This record gives sequence, structure tokens and C-alpha cells, in this order.
Amino acid sequence: MKYISTRGQSEPLNFEQVLMKGLAADKGLYMPETWPRLSYEQISNLKYLSYDKLAHELITPYVGDVLSPYELEQIIYKSYSSFSNSEITPLIQLTNKEYLLELFHGPTLAFKDCAMQLLGSLFEFFLKKRKEKITIICATSGDTGAAAVEAIKDKAFIDLVVLFPKGRISEVQQRQISTSGSENIHSLAIEGNFDDCQLIVKNLLNNKEFCNKYNLSAVNSINWVRVMAQVIYYFYAALKLGSPGEKINFSVPTGNFGDIFAGFVAFKMGLPIEKLCIATNSNDALERFLTKGEYVVESVKATISPSMDIQIASNLERLLFECSDRNYKMIRNIMSNLNNEKKFEIDYHTLSKIKDLFIAKSVNEELTKRTIKDFWLEYNKLIDPHTAVGLRAGKNILPINEKIVYLATAHPSKFPEAVKSSIGLVPEIPISVKDIIKKKEIYTILGNEEKDVKEYFYENIYNLSREEF
Ligand SMILES: *Cc1c(COP(=O)(O)O)cnc(C)c1O
Repeated sequence: MKYISTRGQSEPLNFEQVLMKGLAADKGLYMPETWPRLSYEQISNLKYLSYDKLAHELITPYVGDVLSPYELEQIIYKSYSSFSNSEITPLIQLTNKEYLLELFHGPTLAFKDCAMQLLGSLFEFFLKKRKEKITIICATSGDTGAAAVEAIKDKAFIDLVVLFPKGRISEVQQRQISTSGSENIHSLAIEGNFDDCQLIVKNLLNNKEFCNKYNLSAVNSINWVRVMAQVIYYFYAALKLGSPGEKINFSVPTGNFGDIFAGFVAFKMGLPIEKLCIATNSNDALERFLTKGEYVVESVKATISPSMDIQIASNLERLLFECSDRNYKMIRNIMSNLNNEKKFEIDYHTLSKIKDLFIAKSVNEELTKRTIKDFWLEYNKLIDPHTAVGLRAGKNILPINEKIVYLATAHPSKFPEAVKSSIGLVPEIPISVKDIIKKKEIYTILGNEEKDVKEYFYENIYNLSREEF
């Protein structure tokens, strides 16, 4: 399998190279050259497989020949052994048509672990083989950074630099990022919002000289391998609910469009999906986009679901690429408009293709809180604010006569303030992560300019011009 850039001006790469590189040199995102398409019968044969075995089947065509089947099996086994639930992503029935897919049983209690644990193991495997050292840079709205720290701490050959918006992530998230005590982890609190962090990271990744000097790579959902790993649980849930014989709806709390794009990939691979619901908080650029075909960036609003406080949904580029029949030129144009004017428009044909599969709904703060409360009263179970956004949006606009899976993206204890302000109860932190409350935090506060982060690198990160490498 080869991977191509959405902007059409970078060399095709193999799986190992795409993992290492993250963002393409032409600033595009990598996509598989073709979709591995499964027949009805092939999908039927995946039924009753364990999560590990299913992962192996689904990932194999993307990996190509850079890993042997045995190597891939070992990597998968290692990655998911850190999950506290033997099913990895258990599916909970709510009503006769509605289900909750719990994606928060990994070490940092959010769905990011599902992909990041695999990424960490893959990086370790390839770097060991290459005897090479890299620096991973990561912008986070809270959960990605935590998951990356957990996946990469104490791993040889890797330095991890995490940029988070100071004061805009929850205490549990911040502690997960800042208390690892591991020497290869660098936590940076940026005086700005998530989009500022993401812009700095993108600029550094686009700086060839800087990238070469630090052998820089990315684990944000711009990295194809993240998206790929998230495809697994769409299949896992759908197969349990009668797929491929039934079409399933999914409602996905969305920020950077990575998780829901994995649902689209599952669809492209042949999984029968009726609708994918893009659920957002008050940062509703995607809902407006689906209504009008015009994407307009506004300023980021801080909400009680901070992991979705994003205005520039990076992975939308992948969907636009696909739905415009892989029109590189158009992608280059609209991305340059987005960069210069903070908005872009798409043509009717592309928009209507998107609308065939996607619907979108934003959910405000009041309604998010009420949903947490209603859910508690009905099921005696707490949900986190992100999950509540997905639940509310899905209930409002998905057809209830068909099966719906709501993605539960975080454990409620990750966002105790939001849960408390909704129902007056503070959710219990699982024992497995409780000790972060006592641990010492280590992080550095920096301004929100590229130069501030560069300076940090010069002073703190080993680079390839030093002798030992
Ligand atoms: C990251 C995150 C999201 C948004 O996922 P995207 O892939 O960025 O769309 C939703 N909920 C939680 C809890 C998250 O951590």
C-alpha cells in the first residue's frame, strides 16, 4: 500500500514512512492510494473476532509488507494490553435501538488511547530497527497530549513535546500530561488556545530545516495511522449489531474531525453505515459548513467539552479530498483560502456527496448539561460532556427507527467540573489513574509564538547535529 498527499505534490510513501512523517512536505495529509474494500462475505467473516484479531484483519492491508503478520500481532497485543476492559471498547445497550460504545477504558480514560497506544508501539518497533532517534511534537486540546504521554513515556529513541493551551484543559488532563516524571516528556503550557498550539506545530512541521535537525514527527490526527487505528471500533460495534446485514448510524462528538473520519474510512472499506452524525459543541463551524457549503472560522469558544473547542477541523481536508474525487488542485485552493481569509467555499457536487452520508448538529452548553442530567436520571450512569454532545445531537437528528451507536469518548471523571455543574455529583476517578492527583507537576509556560517554542527546542531537545547521533 502506498500513501499520497491530499495536495498532490509529495512523493508517495509506504506505511512506515507515513507513520514517521505525519504531515506531507507539501502540507497535505496522507491518504491511502486506494481503499481496501471488503465484500459482504468478508465482513460477515469478521463477526465474533476478538478486538485484537479484528484489528489485525483490518490493519493488514494498510501496513503492506513493512511488518510480518507475526510482528503486527505482537504490536497489537502489546498496545491493547494496557486497557482495563477485556473487550477494549465494550458496547452498552440503552434501548432496543440505541447503544453506547465506550471508548474510554485505556490508560488516560479517553478514546485517544485506542489509537495512541498502537502508535507508540509502532514507533518503538521501527525506531529500534532503524537505530534512529526522533522528536514527536503534539498540539493538544487535552486528551491527545495525555494519551501521547502515556504511550511514549520512558520509550527509548523518542522525545515527546506536548503543547497545550494554558488554563483551558481540565485538571485531570493537565496532570496526565505533566506528572509522568519521565525525562523524554516535555510539557509546554502555551499562553493561547488550541488553534494557536496547532498552528505552531504545523509551522514547525513545515519547516524542513527544523524537521531535519530534530527528526521531527507528529502524532496528532493528521497522522494517518491514528485515523486507521480508529476504524477498528466502528467495525467492532457494527458487527455486534448485525452488520453487514444491518445499516448502522453513528453519532460522533467531533473536534478535529479525526474520529468521525475514521467512520468514513470504515464506510469506504465496505461497512454499511446509514448516517454519520457530526456532533459539535458551540464551536459549530462544521454544522454551518454542512448547511451552507461555506466554512468560516470564528474565534474559539471555551466550553465544558474542551477537547472539541476547535474551529479549524484539520481532517476535514481528507474528506474534501475524497468527496471532490481527489481533486488536488481544489484542495490547494481552498486550503490557501482558509489560511489567508479564514474561510472557503466548496462546489455543490462535493457538498452533496458529503451530505449523502453526513449530518451535523451543534449542542449548546445548557443542553449538554441537561443531557448529562437526563441520562443520569434515566440510566443511573454518568456520562462526560463530550459524550453528552454526541448523544444529544444523535437523538435530535438521527432516524430513531434504525440502530444508533453513540461514541462515548471520555470517562466522566476526566471532566468532574462539568459533571458537577450538571447534576451536583462528582464522578469517581478509577483507581488505575488515581495517583496522578498526588504526583508532582512539571511543565514550562511559553508564549503563543513559534519562536518561543523554537527557543525551547534549542535549549532542551537533543538534535541530530550533536555528536551522539
Ligand atoms: C479528541 C476528543 C474528541 C474529538 O475528536 P476528534 O477526532 O478531534 O474529532 C471528542 N471527545 C473527546 C473526549 C476527545 O478527547
